[in-house]
Amino acid sequence: MPLRFVIIGGGPAGNTAATYAARLGAEVTVVERDIIGGAAHLWDCIPSKTMIATGGAMSFSRRMRGMGLEQHEAEIDPRALEERIEGIKGRLRSSISGLLESQGVRMVMGSARLLGPHEVEVQTVAGTERLQADALLVGTGSRPRIPDWCEPDSDRILTTRDCYPPKTMPEHIAVIGSGVTGVEFVHMFASLGCKVTLVVSRQQVLPNKDPEVAAVLEDDFLRRGVTLLKGARAVGIDRVDDEQGSGVLVRCDDGRIIRASHAVLAIGSVPNTDGLGLDSAGVELDRNGYIVINHHCQSNQAHIYAAGDVSGKLPLSSVASMQGRKVAEHVMGLHTREHRHLDYDKAASAIFTEPEIADVGLAEAEAFAAGRKIRVTKVPFSATPKALINNDPRGFVKIISDPATGVVLGGSIVGGAAAELISVIALAVTANLKVTDIVESLLVHPALSEALAEAAE
Ligand SMILES: Cc1cc2nc3c(=O)[nH]c(=O)nc-3n(C[C@H](O)[C@H](O)[C@H](O)COP(=O)(O)OP(=O)(O)OC[C@H]3O[C@@H](n4cnc5c(N)ncnc54)[C@H](O)[C@@H]3O)c2cc1C
Repeated sequence: MPLRFVIIGGGPAGNTAATYAARLGAEVTVVERDIIGGAAHLWDCIPSKTMIATGGAMSFSRRMRGMGLEQHEAEIDPRALEERIEGIKGRLRSSISGLLESQGVRMVMGSARLLGPHEVEVQTVAGTERLQADALLVGTGSRPRIPDWCEPDSDRILTTRDCYPPKTMPEHIAVIGSGVTGVEFVHMFASLGCKVTLVVSRQQVLPNKDPEVAAVLEDDFLRRGVTLLKGARAVGIDRVDDEQGSGVLVRCDDGRIIRASHAVLAIGSVPNTDGLGLDSAGVELDRNGYIVINHHCQSNQAHIYAAGDVSGKLPLSSVASMQGRKVAEHVMGLHTREHRHLDYDKAASAIFTEPEIADVGLAEAEAFAAGRKIRVTKVPFSATPKALINNDPRGFVKIISDPATGVVLGGSIVGGAAAELISVIALAVTANLKVTDIVESLLVHPALSEALAEAAE
């Protein structure tokens, strides 16, 4: 009899695990309460990047004069934008559902919870169904963190999930939180023509990133008229409806108050582990509610796995998918032959701002703090012909390598197409390639990737 593998959550973690496990011969059931494709497709990566692409087209239209063209200010059509987002989500959902179906995966639409270590109950519109499992994967994702000092109303006080697009396009939006999501939302609204104020609790946006990288982004925000309120922590947001119209008042801990038409919270997320019945199966959670996993993504109950945001590792869609794949291999016993552990330190990540920011592997500051000897080489895009042709010479490529062996340890890229270009450095880091491997690759001319080869010299 095939192994019965039940997966809760059809996001990147769940649907990737389902595809691979089914291919390897398991009898797979995926339970999803919202949309196959997950919050990644419904609320997070895909709609935010679609809005950013539209904002990018608007920014490009503002740079047209520099390309020998007449300047034309583009106008947003919020309905067309919403239709575009829905269209992309729909296409992705049907391609993922189609793939799962073609692999023989059973999809059950409903809300699942564990009744015990091997039993899952699903509430569907048709009633209740019980599933027996030999192995289980919890891939239920996370949701935006809502602090106790404000109450989002989906109208003026927003979470990130109310923004695709918001009911009314903000005249002035206050973005609370200056991590990756916060700066992407600043960029998104600024490029759509909104006035933006960013509340930055520290002295640097992106506090966990390379200061040189953060500085390029801050300069760009200031150039675009974004107000940076540094060293200010939001402690309250109230809605106001008065003679000036509808809006919000954001109160900061240092007494400063910002009036804006809208505010959006981008202050992190919390795991979807409550109400799942994990206690009935004896699954251990950490103090923030994430499922504790080992390097095979197993919880303390060996047959119950967790992958994606709920596992408290890197909250990235790409990482969730890779964990899902590793879980499928482990469940099906493949780890004995070809299983390689996931090395979260080698995950590439990108920030879809303008300029784009991407990094992978060892960071300069990290090496410095650890007293590790490194070689750092940096090339600005202003020296790259393709960046000049694109009328976008901002940013740089930085490669970090081992001075003794030449092995590439990490890198960061700020500039056009950084999210695509970082793949070369990510491959080098994963495969332990040397800087000479990049230098001696015969790359395309003219292309932005030439900056990679130069930085590797
Ligand atoms: C604004 C924003 C932008 C982002 N952009 C990017 C990006 O550009 N690139 C990137 O790599 N990452 C991005 N991320 C992170 C990415 O969205 C997550 O890391 C990814 O969605 C995690 O995948 P997952 O499979 O763990 O969960 P999810 O995608 O959240 O899927 C979990 C699924 O489980 C379902 N579920 C939950 N509970 C139950 C239940 N009891 N029964 C049945 N189903 C249930 C949910 O409905 C959901 O569909 C972004 C996040 C945010 C907030």
